[in-house]
Amino acid sequence: MIGRPDRPMRLDAFMARANTAYYATHDPFTDFTTAPEISQVFGELLGLWAAVTWGLLGRPRPVLLVEAGPGRGTLMADALRAVAQVATDFRAALSLHLIETSPRLRALQAARLPEATWHDRLDTVPHAPLLLLANEFLDALPIRQFVRRGSTWTERYVGPEGFVELEPENLSRFAGEVETRSVEREGHTAAAEALIVELCEPARAFVADLAARCVAHPGAALFLDYGPEHSTPGDSLQAIANGRPADPLSPPGSADLTAHVDFAALAATARDAGAAVFGPLPQGPFLARLGLFQRTGRLAQDQPPQRAAALIEAAQRLAEPNRMGRLFKALALCHPSCPTPPGFAA
Ligand code: SAH
Repeated sequence: MIGRPDRPMRLDAFMARANTAYYATHDPFTDFTTAPEISQVFGELLGLWAAVTWGLLGRPRPVLLVEAGPGRGTLMADALRAVAQVATDFRAALSLHLIETSPRLRALQAARLPEATWHDRLDTVPHAPLLLLANEFLDALPIRQFVRRGSTWTERYVGPEGFVELEPENLSRFAGEVETRSVEREGHTAAAEALIVELCEPARAFVADLAARCVAHPGAALFLDYGPEHSTPGDSLQAIANGRPADPLSPPGSADLTAHVDFAALAATARDAGAAVFGPLPQGPFLARLGLFQRTGRLAQDQPPQRAAALIEAAQRLAEPNRMGRLFKALALCHPSCPTPPGFAA
């Protein structure tokens, strides 16, 4: 295991290093459970979302079905099973691409999805019509944190003794935005001392590239992740180790680091690139509109009582507001001519 850096390292570099080490050595799913691991219906519904949205885009073929951060491959295996049953044209037209940096998780994915082509980044995914799905991918991307000090800002670095604050590197590109967000929260021009504003540059870059692709070719993307509806200042960096909250500055590789996704900023990025944006919408109503409870009910019918109860409990966990139904949001970006995709119409 590697320790904390000897010299101050910018928080995003530290977070990237920590997560690369973590995903290379752990099966993260012993530490936390994600929606596709909770219920098979989650992946099934997302697969059908992709198939219906492909229809709304005019059934371009060939078409890429892409997943970013596929974990164990569960979501995609469930999605493809559902698509093969009820959307055979889409199944026949698609080629599967997975964006995954962890060799360990790639091996798990390959066992379940042998037909896939793997990529480290979106850059190498061919430019073509695409449907992209991503659950709990954006929250793993490294963030920067700026701290209000008097009339100026510092940036958080990680040093041998813990957090240190240094002068921000090239904040100027985002200075106006950081300022506005702190002011919105305070309701007056003087931002509160020590207020933290976060910025996830790789998420912005990913969404900007993806939105441009969805505009250039008929395409659409669906993100599910956790974070507030409106950009909110505050420290959302969190760490999980051995299934429990841990110190985010634990030695790199020992904990999974995530931060809230800034959906409003990503929606603005996608709009700037010319994409149509839907959401963010809380996961509960989104999944309910896609038929979470109907599909779960049908599955449960043929099961022994204990298994049926477990399926229903899993659906409730995904959808209930005080569980995963409100904090998690769905955000879609689509080609500008795409009608409202499933789950987003009121
Ligand atoms: N979507 C899965 C896994 C979520 S965990 C699920 O819902 O269960 C985050 C996933 O993103 C893991 O597969 C992790 O290896 C991958 N990942 C994290 N950072 C990444 C990056 N920068 N590029 C590509 N994949 C990344």
